Amino acid sequence: APEPLAPTIDSARRVLKQYYGYDHFRPLQQDIIESILSGRDTVVLMPTGGGKSVCFQVPAMVQEGVCVVVSPLIALMKDQVEALKANGISAACINSSIGQAEQNSIAKACHAGALKLLYVSPEKLLSEGFLSFLQRIKVSMFAIDEAHCISSWGHDFRPEYTQLKVLRQQFPAVPIIALTATADRLTQRDIQQQLRLNDPQVFLSSFDRPNLNLSVRPGQDRVTGIINYLKNHPEEPGIVYCLSRKQCETLAGKLKEKGYRAGFYHAGMTDKARSDVQEKFLRDDLQIICATVAFGMGIDKSNVRWVIHYNLPKNIEGYYQEIGRAGRDGAPAEAVLFYSYADVAQLRDMITKDADPRLSQLNTTKLERMQQFAEAGSCRRRILLAYFGEVSETDCGNCDICRNPPSTFDGTELAQKALSAVARTREAAPLSVVVDILLGRRNQGVISRGYDQIKTFGAGANLTFLDWQSYLHQLLNAGLLYIAYEQGYALKLTEQGWQVLKGERRLNLRQFQVPEKTEKAPKGR
Ligand code: ADP
Ligand code: ZN
Repeated sequence: APEPLAPTIDSARRVLKQYYGYDHFRPLQQDIIESILSGRDTVVLMPTGGGKSVCFQVPAMVQEGVCVVVSPLIALMKDQVEALKANGISAACINSSIGQAEQNSIAKACHAGALKLLYVSPEKLLSEGFLSFLQRIKVSMFAIDEAHCISSWGHDFRPEYTQLKVLRQQFPAVPIIALTATADRLTQRDIQQQLRLNDPQVFLSSFDRPNLNLSVRPGQDRVTGIINYLKNHPEEPGIVYCLSRKQCETLAGKLKEKGYRAGFYHAGMTDKARSDVQEKFLRDDLQIICATVAFGMGIDKSNVRWVIHYNLPKNIEGYYQEIGRAGRDGAPAEAVLFYSYADVAQLRDMITKDADPRLSQLNTTKLERMQQFAEAGSCRRRILLAYFGEVSETDCGNCDICRNPPSTFDGTELAQKALSAVARTREAAPLSVVVDILLGRRNQGVISRGYDQIKTFGAGANLTFLDWQSYLHQLLNAGLLYIAYEQGYALKLTEQGWQVLKGERRLNLRQFQVPEKTEKAPKGR
């Protein structure tokens, strides 16, 4: 039968089979591709490994013209283009490292309509002449990869990304698809607003990874802890994330001494040394990589069985991304975090050195959320999902807390006091002020806003500051509250928070205990 004029999901499915070898789209992929083919701006929030590439590459293949892909990392770009070419897809990339002759031949292919995917860095895209070049060829769509880089509240902000708003202005008829593995509320909002998307269809895939077992262990004697762990996981490939380059090297050395096939990876190595290590890990010649967070972006190894965090990550976004490299094949995998308060202190020092006070405050708040996760006494997966705006109704049964639950009490009334205080500030006060209100403290921050007049003022005076802090953290972790970073860090109620406040749902809390914070800093710094 002759090919219909407008590309359809059927032609997309044929491309999926022919070029990728897959028989079916994953459920969300099909909806996303239909949205794109209908010409709508589209936002895709999908965890790493979810299959985002197919979402724009396949429509690019079935549409006339070239799909311009904006991607922040030149190294990743090259890999992706090589992979596409290897599958017989006509793709190219233009960035600062590409010579004029090659650029000319790429331009020629675009004019001839022979190129399907063109990867560019944001700098290149916005550089003089490039947009007018795009005006002269047929652009099928723009795909903005790693779109969270546009949010100055995110963990990976790239100022160049904010200039991408010119695309909507200069190419009003070309659909834009924005893709990211970060899904918090602010990022979602920033992507839509900053790219000036036109009534976009938003697809949020679940960030749950039920096959991943989550646990936190005390941070003493980490090396011994890791070696014991490895004894119970013989031959299973895994990654240990360390904070410093030196730590990666030291730890890899110690593991080698014990007879493990371990290597290290960090940004201080040559390109060649890095790709060698990566290659060996992919081929299972190395069982273990001790790496900084530089490792993992764009690495497609599905049988990583465990990820260990030697140190506390700086924020939940980073932690989630790193543990997401384990168990991509869907088989059981483990994420183990070694935690000591000394890590928080060290990270806090690093963060507060930032010259920009706004960033330093933002990153401190994010670090605190990470700390609360590590110290939490409720289902870890629920905390993670709540952070990404997903509320699950049940405990997961596959984390250390679920397997070994601490004792809890019915904290509904206590929670209602706190939630009511938040509501009565019109959701405008940060956590410390809410605690002051509950305790009935008449200080400047309280009086100047008239919070001493609200009904909940002093309603929790029978408890201490630390008690209330802990309970509010538990409410954050339970997804009843969230922090609006962009509004002075104000606490706000989620839908579930309102339900508890109205008595439509009950809640268990964990008794607060003063934490032990006298531990020595671990060695090896
Ligand atoms: P992301 O960019 O979201 O991290 P990728 O696009 O790299 O994810 O895809 C992750 C893995 O899933 C890849 O190995 C990819 O080939 C595979 N994949 C994607 N779509 C499908 C599908 N429809 N059926 C089977 N496997 C798929
Ligand atoms: Zn759990």
